[in-house]
Amino acid sequence: MDNKNVKEENVNESKSLNFIQQIIEEDLKNNVNDGRVHTRFPPEPNGYLHIGHAKSICLNFSLAQQYQGKCNLRFDDTNPVKEDTEYVNSIMDDIKWLGFQWDGEPMYTSDYFQQLYDWAVKLITDGKAYVDDQTAAQIAEQKKSPTEPGIESPYRNRSVEENLDLFERMKNGEFKDGEKVLRAKIDMTSSNMHMRDPLMYRIMHAHHHRTGDQWCIYPMYDYAHGESDYIEGITHSICTLEFEVHRPLYEWFVSNLTDTDYRPKQREFARLNLSYTVMSKRKLLELVKDNHVNGWDDPRMPTVSGLRRRGFTPASIRNFADIIGVAKRNNVIDVSLLEHCVREDLNKTAPRVMAVLNPVKLIITNYPENKEEFLSIENNPEDPESGNRDIPFSRELYIEREDFMEDAPKKFFRMTPGQEVRLKAAYIVMCEKAVKDADGNITEIHCTYDAKSKSGSGSEESKRKVKGTLHWVSAKHAAKAEVRIYDRLFNHEAPDAQKETDFKEFINPDSLQILSECYVEPSLKNTKAEDHFQFTRLGYFSVDKDSAAEKLVFNRTVSLKDSWTKTQKK
Ligand code: ATP
Ligand code: MG
Repeated sequence: MDNKNVKEENVNESKSLNFIQQIIEEDLKNNVNDGRVHTRFPPEPNGYLHIGHAKSICLNFSLAQQYQGKCNLRFDDTNPVKEDTEYVNSIMDDIKWLGFQWDGEPMYTSDYFQQLYDWAVKLITDGKAYVDDQTAAQIAEQKKSPTEPGIESPYRNRSVEENLDLFERMKNGEFKDGEKVLRAKIDMTSSNMHMRDPLMYRIMHAHHHRTGDQWCIYPMYDYAHGESDYIEGITHSICTLEFEVHRPLYEWFVSNLTDTDYRPKQREFARLNLSYTVMSKRKLLELVKDNHVNGWDDPRMPTVSGLRRRGFTPASIRNFADIIGVAKRNNVIDVSLLEHCVREDLNKTAPRVMAVLNPVKLIITNYPENKEEFLSIENNPEDPESGNRDIPFSRELYIEREDFMEDAPKKFFRMTPGQEVRLKAAYIVMCEKAVKDADGNITEIHCTYDAKSKSGSGSEESKRKVKGTLHWVSAKHAAKAEVRIYDRLFNHEAPDAQKETDFKEFINPDSLQILSECYVEPSLKNTKAEDHFQFTRLGYFSVDKDSAAEKLVFNRTVSLKDSWTKTQKK
């Protein structure tokens, strides 16, 4: 390849890099931090991960893979009141399920409490931190606003000795919650409010899920985060946009505490927002606690465990994260794009099976009473490797109630008296009549079949043009199942962005519909939780964790209709 071509190729390559990759490539070129790439995913173990976290996970872990670097998992456990081991475990499960593995053991900010304490002592010794006796309200009031200078605390100029003594006594538990705080001594006139003597430590007499009662002072995020990055050798500390204004403080702490050339650097990207979805952990916790949903893994939740139970695949979520890319500005992604991604993945991989959700009996009056036969049907036309299976056929079947209409309009190509339809992978049948009970409800539909029209037989009769093809199951062979159909949990596009209205007001009362009288083909008796299927003509479904041999339970992942592709074509 000549030089010109090489150059052009590079240009093309850099075009497709996102802005974080561009930063990394620039850093690599300049051998920043010895040309290492080391990222981290730093969840606070105070809730389950959601699709926004999944975006961040995909970004951090993929960057590490792409640049032969490392990615740590670090539990940012500095607030003992809200944290729990249950969350720690679920977070690890979710990351692994998404297909990623962190470098070495999981890390915990709480492992650094001693080091962070020692560094705080160093800042005090250097005259760069002080103990303040004022209340949180007084401190907030003195910070003033960005347009007017703040007021210095009367305790700001305490001697180093007094500060060291008070800070140690804070650690030893001599003071009550809120009685004292440690503050960095930076600049009460800074135009950046985060630089106006921010808090470093607060007193909290609370039991920590890992350190127990060893500590009663806990470091603040802004102090702990950058220092933890430094301890772990992180090079690119990627976080969401709202931390951009914290960056000078991140850098202040790092540069005041270290004497090496190595520096972790904070970089910000826009958080993922999805339409029809709330994503804050606090709000998700509220939905769980107040029983608006059935737990964190309710299939209507945007949590990773909810999406998983709903039937989303790791590949579909990774692909979604890839398609949306990384943005520098906040925006809202249409939730139908996420649904599109799972549909695309399942279309390639999910076996096609027959299930009838709203059954009505179909009786083939000219089919012998005791006869049964096994018909061959393709497992997945999109996957040539997937082969065929045999499904039982007999005189009494179930079809969808809505596939029959007594007085049908002209363009109704399904079942109506006097019209032929094909039963998928079986025969062509002619509909005769509906049988009704005393109240006029249809209890049975009668038809006759053309014994020579068997699908795949190659006979002239089987090639007859018939407009409709229906799915069915054999009544005596089918397994009974419960099928749960989900709709969006909120019926407002931006449920938590309405100033006047609480987001819970927008909960969709019809977001869960349980169909308990469904019939599925017998092959589905041997399925396990999280198996994926396409129910012919109905959508993609997966086996719920509640499913058992006595009672099969399926969740509808998505319908077949792709509203995203449709809007893109408009
Ligand atoms: P929430 O605001 O939902 O409570 P959080 O930011 O408090 O989330 P953390 O556990 O602190 O949750 O987040 C861990 C990581 O995930 C952080 O690096 C954070 O930037 C990232 N993250 C959280 N929400 C999103 C989102 N919606 N899009 C992208 N990244 C996110
Ligand atoms: Mg947070």
